[in-house]
Amino acid sequence: MQVALVGIGKIALDQHVPAIAASPDWELAATVSRHGAVPGIPAFTDFAAFLDACPGVSVVSLCLPPVPRFAYAEAALQAGRHVMLEKPPGATLAEVQELAALAAGMGLTLYTTWHSRMARAVEPARAWLAGRRVHRAHVTWREDVRKWHPGQDWVFEPGGMGVFDPGINALSILTHILPRPVHMTAATLEFPENRQTPIAARLAFTGQVSADFDWRQEGPQTWDISVETDRGPLALRLGGNVLEIDGRVVAGERSIMGEYPALYARMADLVRARASEVDLAPMVHVADALTLGRRLVTAPFHF
Ligand code: NAP
Repeated sequence: MQVALVGIGKIALDQHVPAIAASPDWELAATVSRHGAVPGIPAFTDFAAFLDACPGVSVVSLCLPPVPRFAYAEAALQAGRHVMLEKPPGATLAEVQELAALAAGMGLTLYTTWHSRMARAVEPARAWLAGRRVHRAHVTWREDVRKWHPGQDWVFEPGGMGVFDPGINALSILTHILPRPVHMTAATLEFPENRQTPIAARLAFTGQVSADFDWRQEGPQTWDISVETDRGPLALRLGGNVLEIDGRVVAGERSIMGEYPALYARMADLVRARASEVDLAPMVHVADALTLGRRLVTAPFHF
C-alpha cells in the first residue's frame, strides 16, 4: 500500500521513514511538508496539491504537531484517504471525535496511534496484571525537552500540551495495562513563567495510582512504571520496553525501535479490514489534569 507522510520533522525522520522502509506492507509514495523532504521521494509543499496529484495514495500518515493536524485529517478523509494520526491524536477531544464520525460515515480507517503501547513489554505486562489486584502504581516519566524537542516552541504554545506530550505516552501504557480504570483526583502543574503549557506535573488517581512527569531531566532519562500487586511487584522500564517481575527482567528488549514498525503493521491490518481504532483514554487524563490542576509558576524556560 502507498502511504504519504505529512510533516517531515523530527519524528517523521527518526521513526516513520525507517519503519515504512523496513515494512513489507508499505511504500512511501510522497511527502508533504513546507520545508522537509525525504531523498528520492516525490515531495509536495501543499496538501491540497498532493491530494489532487496522487489519487492512488490511499493512506496518509500525519506527523504534524497536534494543533494543525485536524484540518489535514479532515481534508484527507473528505478526499477518501485512510488516516493515521501521531500522538496525541489532536489538540482537543472533540475534534478527534468529529474525525472518528467522519471516517465511520465514509467507511475509511482512522487510527489514533499510541507508539508507547507498542513497546515490547507492554502486552506481557497487561497479561500479567490481568486478574491481579493492584495495590498501587507509580509512573516516573522524566526526560530532557531539549533533547527530544530541540527548539520546538509549539510544545509550549496552547495545544502543545507541554510535559504531557511525553507524559501521554505513559498514560497510554497505564490505560492499557491496568486491570481496572482509574480517574484523576488531583494534579499539580508547573508552568514556566514565560510559557503557556506545563514543564512538570504530579498527578494523583483513584486506586493509589500516581505519576510524576518532568521535562527538566538532564543525563539519564527515566520512563518507568511500577505496580504493586497482591502477587508481587511489576516494573516497566525504558518506556514499556523492558518488563521486570519481582526485580528480575522477564520480557522485552532495551530498544525503542520496535514501536513504529508495530504501528505500521497495525495500520495495514486496519486498512485491510476497513476498521478504525480510536482510543482517547490517555488524552482524557490530560484534559482532566488541565481541568483539575493546581497551577504553580516556575522559572522561565528557554531552549
Ligand atoms: P516537529 O519536528 O516540530 O514537527 C513536524 C513537522 O510538522 C515540522 O517539521 C513541520 O514541517 C510541520 N509543522 C509544524 N508546525 C506546523 C504547522 N503549524 N502547520 C503545518 N505544518 C507544521 O515535531 P515532531 O517532534 O516531529 O512531533 C510531531 C508529532 O509527533 C507530535 O505530535 C509529537 O508528540 C509526536 N512525537 C514526537 C516525538 C519526538 O521525539 N519528537 C516522539 C514521538 C511522537 P514543515 O515546516 O516542513 O511543514
